[in-house]
Amino acid sequence: MFSIAISTKNEATRLTCVQYVSTRGNCSPQSFSDILLSGLAPDGGLFVPQSYPQVSARQLDDFRMLLAEQGYAALAAAVLSLFAPDIPQADLSGICKRAYSSDVFATSDIVPVSKLNDGLYLAHLSDGPTAAFKDMAMQFLGQVFEYELARRNSNINILGATSGDTGSSAEYAMLGRKGIRVFMLTPAGRMTPFQQAQMYSIADPAIINIAVDGVFDDCQDLVKAVAADLDFKEKYQIGAVNSINWGRICAQVVYYFASWLRVSGSVDEKVSFCVPTGNFGNILAGHVAKQMGLPIGKLILATNENNVLDEFFRTGVYRVRDAAAVYATSSPSMDISKASNFERFIYDVFDGDGARVRELFAENLPRQGYFDISHTPEFAGIAPRFGFESGASRHADRVNAIKNIWESDGVIVDPHTADGIAVARQLRGSTPVVVTETALPVKFAQTIEEAIGFVPKTPARFAGLEELPRTFTEIGKDVDALRALIVERVAAP
Ligand SMILES: *Cc1c(COP(=O)(O)O)cnc(C)c1O
Repeated sequence: MFSIAISTKNEATRLTCVQYVSTRGNCSPQSFSDILLSGLAPDGGLFVPQSYPQVSARQLDDFRMLLAEQGYAALAAAVLSLFAPDIPQADLSGICKRAYSSDVFATSDIVPVSKLNDGLYLAHLSDGPTAAFKDMAMQFLGQVFEYELARRNSNINILGATSGDTGSSAEYAMLGRKGIRVFMLTPAGRMTPFQQAQMYSIADPAIINIAVDGVFDDCQDLVKAVAADLDFKEKYQIGAVNSINWGRICAQVVYYFASWLRVSGSVDEKVSFCVPTGNFGNILAGHVAKQMGLPIGKLILATNENNVLDEFFRTGVYRVRDAAAVYATSSPSMDISKASNFERFIYDVFDGDGARVRELFAENLPRQGYFDISHTPEFAGIAPRFGFESGASRHADRVNAIKNIWESDGVIVDPHTADGIAVARQLRGSTPVVVTETALPVKFAQTIEEAIGFVPKTPARFAGLEELPRTFTEIGKDVDALRALIVERVAAP
């Protein structure tokens, strides 16, 4: 799908009508607004653009001017219009202005990039309302959902489970958005104190926090059980904002453009990225940006002890874990058993061969718990063709990275960003490397204290948060109780 020669005329048409198809090949093309509110494609695959919009050197120059003169929101509108040609440009500009404003983010200059003393760059993505990079995507999603629901005169009840960052990011993005209610399941007592305070301090009838007596996987199972009940799902307009949502992925593509523009002076200067990875959402956005023609050198994937993806890039074997075999680490947002967005990358590796993707993900994986493409020319081509490299970081590596960045730069990074720094140091070459910052240290105070001997200061905008009253409903591992709660709250005035 990348090697097709396209005439200028076709190119122009294509840019105005990007359509989305399924990674498993059995779904007719749909528009951005059609796939925005749906989850999986009907054939069980994930939605992907039929082909990636391409940016020229001239467009990159235009983007540089836009970012310099009008800021991140204008860049976002320009990049996102390539993915959502069905939303009128003026509307998209408004959506991006509301999503990426200095009222919402702690900096006026959204996504600043700083340079560490060892030459690595840090792209600051955690200045949003919940101090995690997920806000970069969720803020867009909140605005574009509200817009799309209004256009359709419809409502949505978002149902999700979180182990920490996703839930709070979704709640702050959806808070106050018309037509949107959020039911978010959390494992009781298992998030960090700051994460609990962030979520449970929201006192709004449209944000329903549910503490489940169990672990994250129990929460996830309850969500799946409710979503599997199609009648209930339809009657109560149940939707999701999980990491496979294409709206999130394309919003994340924008900060790769912004970071590249801030580090590179011209199209001849490539920039590599090192990305702490869990569900393969963040780094997938980097891959998309590179496929669009952004001059990215390497895409270095960093995992923690749960190294499912590092193992794949080293060996060609993708082996998912049982929930019980997933380690609870000090970079908990990367503790995953399978990477939900990975299928989108494999689709590109096999040049959009839906039958092959279906065989790997719908047959081999469920049957044997892994698939093995080590013997294929496609696997051999991954590093040269897509620029991917990978590494893993362990507790000692991340604690060490936190400690020596503090000592050399006086900067405190969170444990996930530290994984990225540790792996970037192993694998960096001569090209500049940007590590994508994933969260602020205050969210993971305990590990920071272990590394540097004190707890990071709470940023002023979060002062007093942990003392606020908390609102949540407790339930057991009980689908009926969850259903009853949804029915009751949807009926409430
Ligand atoms: C979500 C998250 C990650 C992992 O990102 P993916 O898009 O799932 O790969 C890493 N660090 C933090 C702090 C996160 O919240």
